[in-house]
Amino acid sequence: MSINISTRRIFSAKIKVCQLFSVSRGVKTSRFYRIQHDVKHTSPSRRPEPSQADSLTEIGVRSIFSEEHDILRRNARKFYTEEVVPNRERWEKDGRVDREFWKKIGAAGLLGVGTRAEAGGWGGDYKSACVMEEEHAYVNWLVGATFGGHSEVTLPYLDNYGTKSQHEQFVPQMVRGEKIGAIAMTEPSSGSDLQGIKTHAKQDGDDWILNGSKVFITNGISADVTVVVAVTDLNAKHKARGISLFLVEDGTPGFNKGRILKKLGMRASETGELFFDDVRLPKSAILGGEERLNQGFYCLMQQLPRERLGIGVVCTAHAEYIFETTREYIKQRKAFGSSLSKLQTVQHRMAEMKTKICTTRAFIDQCIQLMDEGRLDASTASMAKIWASDMAFKVINECLQLHGGWGYMWEYPVARAFVDSRVAPIYGGSNDIMNELIARDIVAE
Ligand SMILES: Cc1cc2nc3c(=O)[nH]c(=O)nc-3n(C[C@H](O)[C@H](O)[C@H](O)COP(=O)(O)OP(=O)(O)OC[C@H]3O[C@@H](n4cnc5c(N)ncnc54)[C@H](O)[C@@H]3O)c2cc1C
Repeated sequence: MSINISTRRIFSAKIKVCQLFSVSRGVKTSRFYRIQHDVKHTSPSRRPEPSQADSLTEIGVRSIFSEEHDILRRNARKFYTEEVVPNRERWEKDGRVDREFWKKIGAAGLLGVGTRAEAGGWGGDYKSACVMEEEHAYVNWLVGATFGGHSEVTLPYLDNYGTKSQHEQFVPQMVRGEKIGAIAMTEPSSGSDLQGIKTHAKQDGDDWILNGSKVFITNGISADVTVVVAVTDLNAKHKARGISLFLVEDGTPGFNKGRILKKLGMRASETGELFFDDVRLPKSAILGGEERLNQGFYCLMQQLPRERLGIGVVCTAHAEYIFETTREYIKQRKAFGSSLSKLQTVQHRMAEMKTKICTTRAFIDQCIQLMDEGRLDASTASMAKIWASDMAFKVINECLQLHGGWGYMWEYPVARAFVDSRVAPIYGGSNDIMNELIARDIVAE
């Protein structure tokens, strides 16, 4: 069974119980299931939470998910383990993923999973999109930002605001990995202050002339289509009401790509700079068409909570993964005649970390449920981002310490995770800005 057939089956038809059992065969049974066997009155549909399972990355856990999600997760895990992990060093050297792989992951049905079918996506629920993100984290988030930036950050703008012809022009090809997407908000002189951007577009007859520059753009150099945030009304009473989103295609005259920036971490994930020099765009390049002119800031405010929760989702899963690799490490590493895992101080550190991860997991799953039901507010999404990104960085740092000198070596997953996790409190809106958003709600009258 090829992976994309599974994806189709999950989203287009009910899965028969017999199919599920055949797919589940061979998967490790958790302690929860063993206990449940003996407890006759407990509903068999109740799923264990990760704190009750043998491993924090176990499949078949968490009450927010279903067996359909488990199938999707199993497929994604297999694909990422077999196809992503072996390529990591080459991609880290190149600073990006090669185009052939984009087509491969697209053909496997693992892009645009949470994009509506009417817009040209797979039509999975938000939880399915989270499964994709978490599974990237369970292979150490090697290229998660690349594909998350495409599927979970850029595609939602096209999905939610694109016109029918914009959907047809971009979404199916992006879902197949034939076109790469990026979103460009940040500028060299303005990141946190989105309303302070200088990139602007001026109307010229039916066209718009775009000028300015952007920086730190995930997939920016490779992208075939970039959602560009620009000021379109310099005289707007409120700056927020004078901003629009443009779809700018690669190769448009005046649109120049700069360097792939060298980063501290996430080295296989491309981050670039973009320049717009009198780029002439037709009015059909306004995302959502003319009726969305000057509504770009509103679109950003609607979509940023999804990006921020996505960061919380990834950070929590990343901490779970590194916790499990550390658990294995301390069991086999010998010191003073026995394994590290026999030392009580080490055991207590592991206990504290598990508690931190599992309490975060409970909140993040609550947020995923809220997002799935369309009820997640901006303030709660900001809390998810702050809490999970801080927690993950602290846990990964502690795990690195437990690895001793080997934790500082690139060949160990924890070394990569340490530098990669440092970005989460910064991007997607820094954690200081998240505090601003949460505080605004607290003191609002
Ligand atoms: C790897 C990576 C990938 C990225 N991908 C993208 C992308 O695809 N698209 C995109 O548009 N952007 C992207 N970004 C940019 C990212 O979102 C910004 O870096 C982030 O929003 C912070 O903006 P800044 O870097 O300009 O920092 P600044 O705004 O200059 O902030 C500097 C510091 O000041 C603090 N600060 C600023 N304002 C306040 C305030 N009011 N109160 C308290 N403290 C404050 C900040 O918290 C921060 O610590 C990416 C960044 C990185 C590192």
